[in-house]
Amino acid sequence: MVRETCNCGRQTLLMTSWTDTNPGRRFVQCPQYKVDPEMCQRSKEIIPGLLWSKNKIAAEVETWKEMTKVQQGNARRLKMYLMLHWGVIFLWLFFFKSGAKGENEVGEEAAL
Ligand SMILES: [Zn+2]
Repeated sequence: MVRETCNCGRQTLLMTSWTDTNPGRRFVQCPQYKVDPEMCQRSKEIIPGLLWSKNKIAAEVETWKEMTKVQQGNARRLKMYLMLHWGVIFLWLFFFKSGAKGENEVGEEAAL
C-alpha cells in the first residue's frame, strides 16, 4: 500500500528508479525524504541482466524488421520484372500470331 501523505504532511509521489543498482524499483518520494526498503542483492543482480536481455531482443527485432522491409522491396521488384517479362512474352506471341494470321489472310484472299 502506497502512502499518499508523508509524515510531514506533504503529498507523496510514486516514483520508479531506473538506475543500474535499483532498476524498476518503485518508491514514494516526498519533497524532503525518500522511503522504501533497499532491494535485495539477488534482485540487484538479476534485474539489470533482464533489462539488458530485453534491450538486446528489442534491437534484434528492429534488425529483423529492417531486413523484412528490404526483402519485401526485393520481392516487389522481382514481381514487377516477372510481370514485365510476361508482358513481353504476351506481346511477342500476339504479334507473332497476328503476323502469321495476316499471311494466311493474304494467302486466302489470293486464293479467292
Ligand atoms: Zn515528507
